[in-house]
Amino acid sequence: MADYEELKQMALDSGFSHVGDLDVDTIELKQEVRDMCSADKCHAYAKNWSCPPACGTIEECAKKVHKYKRGILLQTTGEVDTMDIDDIMELAADHKEHYDTFQKKVRKQYPDAMIIRDGACTKCKTCTYPDAPCRFPNELFHPMEGLGMLVSEVCQRNNLPYYYGPGTLTYVGCVLIE
Ligand code: SF4
Repeated sequence: MADYEELKQMALDSGFSHVGDLDVDTIELKQEVRDMCSADKCHAYAKNWSCPPACGTIEECAKKVHKYKRGILLQTTGEVDTMDIDDIMELAADHKEHYDTFQKKVRKQYPDAMIIRDGACTKCKTCTYPDAPCRFPNELFHPMEGLGMLVSEVCQRNNLPYYYGPGTLTYVGCVLIE
């Protein structure tokens, strides 16, 4: 069995502000969350193997997710001026850096872990979708919403706050371990 206390410490050492246990049975993938992807606000819809529609139907995604039973939730919280895009982008860059550091360590110890982040896979400068197969199928990572997860609900069901007060913003992801 994985050592979750060690994993959570590793996550904090990688820079995340908050970490928590994740019971995968609490995750319910929702079609209405997937439907929001098609509005393409993040400009990744139908442009990346990790996102809808390429990541599969909601049933196919549920099969991938529910192969797992346990994981951990990862958050980067910061104080930002939510009207200042530079502030928001800076926090997003911090979250990415924490993930990049943590992901490398996790992949070494748990090569079958499923990495789920806050946005489309950015491993390559330009995704090969749809012209060629994914360059790194074992290293791509999916976005929570792209799989159909309602991020606030996943946090709440696992007793981890999602909102840390006025003037704060929190980026969230998770890693499914076993
Ligand atoms: S690893 Fe590269 S090709 Fe594969 S989904 Fe990520 S960005 Fe696209």
